[in-house]
Amino acid sequence: MQTPCRKCSGTGYLPQYNHIDGGKCFPCSGTGYISSQSAEIIPSSYSEDQFHKTIIMKEKQEELALLRSLMKETFKKLDDVFHQLNTLQSNHSEFGSTNEYTEYIIKSKALENKKREYQKQINEIQNQVEAIQRNFD
Ligand SMILES: [Zn+2]
Repeated sequence: MQTPCRKCSGTGYLPQYNHIDGGKCFPCSGTGYISSQSAEIIPSSYSEDQFHKTIIMKEKQEELALLRSLMKETFKKLDDVFHQLNTLQSNHSEFGSTNEYTEYIIKSKALENKKREYQKQINEIQNQVEAIQRNFD
């Protein structure tokens, strides 16, 4: 059974939260209606402040989840670069010609640059995660 959302009076829109997800009403996800089950969960005494905090919390959690998966991906890439560097170094203990040596230097420089880039990205992600967590408290 569906009942009109009492937060947005069935409009699905909250102009005061226009800056968050275009003002989409959070309890009814912008539909204007909520299932009677949800209606029981959201207290009628829900203040503007509580409501706002709930939205922000949900947003931040989504942001954190996104950052964590990005971090995981970047760690994978970094790991891959480490593998490539190891392989390159163990394959080139001796150089047959100057060209081979030059090629080795170019390849390892490129990999070192990638390594630094990924390490920088991981630091930046870590900083963002910490900033979000600080704002939580
Ligand atoms: Zn609503």
